[in-house]
Formats: sequence, structure tokens, C-alpha cells
Amino acid sequence: MRNSFLEILFPRFCLGCGYVGTYLCQNCESKMMRVKRNSCFYCNKPSLLGLTHPGCKKKQGVDGYISLYLYNGLFKQLLQESKYKGAHMVLKTLLSFPQKKAMEDVWRWNSLWNPTVISVPLHPQRQKERGFNQSEIIVSAYFSSQFISDTLLERINNTAHLAHIHDKNERKRKIKGAFKYCKSTIPKTVVVVDDVITSGSTIIECAKTLKENGVQTVLAFSLAKG
Ligand SMILES: [Zn+2]
Ligand SMILES: [Zn+2]
Repeated sequence: MRNSFLEILFPRFCLGCGYVGTYLCQNCESKMMRVKRNSCFYCNKPSLLGLTHPGCKKKQGVDGYISLYLYNGLFKQLLQESKYKGAHMVLKTLLSFPQKKAMEDVWRWNSLWNPTVISVPLHPQRQKERGFNQSEIIVSAYFSSQFISDTLLERINNTAHLAHIHDKNERKRKIKGAFKYCKSTIPKTVVVVDDVITSGSTIIECAKTLKENGVQTVLAFSLAKG
């Protein structure tokens, strides 16, 4: 009922070509740029299962990284649209495309390390404004059937517009101390899920907080990378 009502008020158009009835048609999805080979989080050179090369490893850093799409063109537009309040249907449309092949290595992570999956938390005030957390939607679309998911971190400072800060050091400074570990149990391995990873400063801060609290291995997953 509610959906058909919304449909009349806001008919859906493919954001790529204008095709009526969906936010993203099959044809445009097939033209979006996928990540072809998993690579190391730090040096971006190819690596098995997206694992960080031994020589690139940082003690409190990210130990592996898999992303599905490249953050450009149509993808950028889709994700920006989906961040508006209530517009998460755009994101859900994107998440409804099958990802069996692309997710194979992520499922390998699961069988090898049995990790706990978490989404990058938003500050409660931000989540209230937006009405949802886009990373949580990604976790429930891709990870709910195969993985253990939990909430281990909370966001204690509201770094609202990090994406607009272009200076890497400034971003790092802003995100410092943004998260707090909020559980008494400590899993050995954690997969942190975000919608887009560009500079990586948010995910690095998550990894640091998790490891400071006893997590041994932190893997990262994003829908897109910049
Ligand atoms: Zn289209
Ligand atoms: Zn490397």
C-alpha cells in the first residue's frame, strides 16, 4: 500500500538512462565498473583474497580489503541519491543485483576466519536525520545469511561532512577518536562494512579502535572504492 502510494508520488526512473520502473536498470548495472581483481588496501597491487601484503601490514591497520565497484560516474550518482532521507530504495535496488561471483572471496573469508561483521556506525544524531544507516543496509543485503553480525562500535563524535574534506591529514584529524568499543565480548576477526571507501581514514580509525580493544584481524568491505 505504502509503496504503491510512493510510486504515484515519486515514479521510479533509471538514474542511468531514464528507463521507467526502476532506479537502476539491468543494462546500466552491467555497464557499471566493477573491481576486477582484489588488491592490497595499502599499495593497491593485486593480492590473494584482497589480503594486505606482509610487507604492507600495519600493526593497528587493515588486514584485507574487498570492494565490488569503482566509485565513479553512475555509481557515484546512485550512492549520493541514496543518502537523502528516505531514498534508501535506490541503494536497495543496487543491492538487489546478484553478486555471487564478486562475493566469492568474501565468503572465503567467512570459511577461513569465521569473522563477525559490523557496519561503520553513524553518529545517533546523523542516523536520526537520515533515517537509516546505508552500511547496515549493505550488511543485511549481503552478509545476513552467511555471517555473524553484531554491533561492536559506536560513533561518539559527529564528523558529519568528512566526505567534503579533501585534505587527507585534516580528515585523519577529524575522525580521530570518533569510535568507541561498546561490547564486552571480543571476536578474533572482524569485517567492517562501509558503503564507499575513498581515503580510507574512517576504516583505518575503525581498525585502530577494534585492535586497541583486542581484535586481532580487521578486514574491510565496501560496495565501492574511490
Ligand atoms: Zn538504465
Ligand atoms: Zn601491499
